Amino acid sequence: MDTEINPRKNLIGLDRDELAAQLTAIGEKPFRAKQLWHWMYYHGATDFDAMTTIAKAARPLLKELFCTERPDISRLETSEDGTRKWLLTFGDGNEAETVYIPETDRGALCISSQVGCTLNCSFCHTGTQKLVRNLTAGEIVGQMMVARDSYNEWPVPKGARMISNIVMMGMGEPLYNFDNVKKALKIIMDPEGISLSKRRITLSTAGVVPMMQRCGAEIGVNLAVSLHACNDELRDTLVPINRKYPLKELIKACRQYPGANNANRITFEYAMLKGINDSDADAKELIRLVRGLPVKFNLIPFNPWPGTRFENSTPKQAKRFSEILNNGGLSAPIRVPRGRDIMAACGQLKSDSERQRRQKTGLSA
Ligand code: SAH
Repeated sequence: MDTEINPRKNLIGLDRDELAAQLTAIGEKPFRAKQLWHWMYYHGATDFDAMTTIAKAARPLLKELFCTERPDISRLETSEDGTRKWLLTFGDGNEAETVYIPETDRGALCISSQVGCTLNCSFCHTGTQKLVRNLTAGEIVGQMMVARDSYNEWPVPKGARMISNIVMMGMGEPLYNFDNVKKALKIIMDPEGISLSKRRITLSTAGVVPMMQRCGAEIGVNLAVSLHACNDELRDTLVPINRKYPLKELIKACRQYPGANNANRITFEYAMLKGINDSDADAKELIRLVRGLPVKFNLIPFNPWPGTRFENSTPKQAKRFSEILNNGGLSAPIRVPRGRDIMAACGQLKSDSERQRRQKTGLSA
């Protein structure tokens, strides 16, 4: 555990034990950690002077040593459909995107787990990004804090909330950054803070089979799997991690996913790619593939990005595909794309800006 006291250490992203260790290291009592936690994650406080239950005498030292800083907002865009996208810059200059998708009285925040992504799914824009690193727990929680700041959801509302759900479906593969994602989600679920129920959180994986069991057992959130193909031959080309963990293993891991049952189904995401994975035969093979599994499908119209060779299925064929799955007893709604005009829809996120690439190569911006 890191108990070193750095000048102005950011407290966002520390778990309860780490926070307590920081405070005991400066001679504070452990209950101070509990107070601070409440101010940070229930009230969203950024100013120690606003933390009125903390003794006045204790505040100057806290102010001198600590902060509760969010990532910087480099750009904020709002789509014509209300979807909002933040480009966030972290301490080292790396960037990632966060998206909020509003419904009438609720909405989902789509959070990134990595800068870029190593998976190289052939139809995904994020996969074309060079720069990759894991986000820290603080950077993952920080995305949630920025969104709550922006919707004024401090103190955490008791009833309906604008940010009612989280989907770990932004940039990156969350199960390749398991420890930080777990730590961040535990902070977000903590009942004395943001207190978002695990039922309102969904983690999406391209199929990192060895980590799926731990995800269910240790985090306990809903699972979504990026399936996109009904057989290994095709999936190998669309979602290359399939070469490492083929469908048989993926389906087995889904069967064993802790907490999945008919009332709480795993979501299979399926991007509709014209002439690639959208035939009637594909739909029928899918029905056979998932027989007996507690799943539902989410058919995602392919979201285009500059330079892609893929196209969206025709609406007629997408509807047919959905109906075939329905007739096979599977729920398979076609999702309405959100935020396309600001490149905020599924698979469109990318953050290695020209500026960042120039910085990397030493060219002036
Ligand atoms: N790495 C994780 C998290 C990313 S979630 C995963 O693969 O599940 C983003 C979702 O959008 C995934 O289901 C991904 O396959 C899908 N997607 C990627 N590119 C897309 C595109 N251009 N159009 C529609 N969906 C896309």
